[in-house]
Amino acid sequence: MTVLGLETSCDETAAAVVSGVPGRPGTIRANLVLSQFDEHAPYGGVVPEIAARAHIDHLDSLIASALREAGLGLNDVDAIAATAGPGLVGGLMVGLVTGKALAFAAQKPFVAVNHLEAHALTARLVSGTQFPYLVLLVSGGHCQLLEARGVGDYTLLGTTLDDAVGEAFDKTAKLLGLGYPGGPHVEKWARKGDAKRFDLPRPMKGRPGADFSFAGLKTALRQTVTKLVPLTETDLADAAASFQLAVADAIEDRTRNAMRMMRERAGTGDPIPFVVAGGVAANAALRERLETLAQAEGFDLTAPPMALCTDNAAMIAWAGVERVAIGSTDTLDASPRPRWPLADLTAD
Ligand code: ATP
Ligand code: FE
Ligand code: MG
Repeated sequence: MTVLGLETSCDETAAAVVSGVPGRPGTIRANLVLSQFDEHAPYGGVVPEIAARAHIDHLDSLIASALREAGLGLNDVDAIAATAGPGLVGGLMVGLVTGKALAFAAQKPFVAVNHLEAHALTARLVSGTQFPYLVLLVSGGHCQLLEARGVGDYTLLGTTLDDAVGEAFDKTAKLLGLGYPGGPHVEKWARKGDAKRFDLPRPMKGRPGADFSFAGLKTALRQTVTKLVPLTETDLADAAASFQLAVADAIEDRTRNAMRMMRERAGTGDPIPFVVAGGVAANAALRERLETLAQAEGFDLTAPPMALCTDNAAMIAWAGVERVAIGSTDTLDASPRPRWPLADLTAD
């Protein structure tokens, strides 16, 4: 089965063509992403109206390029999938309306994809990971631990009570004046810094459950940094390193609890797949910690390649493959869903 996927939920305009059968790794035939990085950089964050306009400007030509690269015409694909949520409503409308128009014109099934489900299913596209598995989704908009039991069947084990972890990285970079998007800058500076210099809180650490919180950490860092102004390069590096270590400690603690919850439910000692997804999964220090944790808890870590961890349309097309395979397609009156928690999904 071959699916054309469209992604426009945030600040990446993306189109991709993917072929495959659920349960086995798929084939990515084209995967084009246009990041609107330059458009938003002057504002230090995503501006919804600018994002929606940029999607309108670029999506059509991106789709044409993706089909060309795959060597296919619209009539050769079996279905069309577009992100319907969660995300910014203007962008969602652009992708959704485009996808529905193409599906109507070519008389193909249409799938309104949940962006979070697409992140969660990416490991199946890449490695054919079998259900059930644990997902840690760490991105600019989310910080969640989920048990994936099947397509449309997710149990939320924990989520952030305030900021997403990528957002915390971005705000920290802004506070320290390191640049946007923040994650890669914080990581680069952290490598040169002393992570033990500032004693920052590890929010939620030691508490039962698997929820996250990053607001307190952000405030503590701001108070620490304010006292030091003007900041030297050493101060910046030490602050970045101390922040990153606090985040890694917190995520490790929460993930360990989620692993134990899932282990208890599984009722066996067999290895359980553990998938890390989202832009923050690019962080090497975090990956290392999670690798060690997974080994200690009997989990097999899979982290999709970076280009498939951040927002892309290959994951949307793959979610389409999975959904079409179980007969779960949508009508052309599917509407955008800016808020659409994974736990609300079904396999229908
Ligand atoms: P969502 O997928 O939840 O809608 P999003 O599209 O903003 O949100 P992604 O594109 O998956 O999220 O990831 C972007 C986030 O990842 C940004 O917050 C960015 O700072 C963060 N990030 C990227 N690289 C790194 C890194 N090396 N270390 C830490 N954070 C990183
Ligand atoms: Fe995303
Ligand atoms: Mg993004």
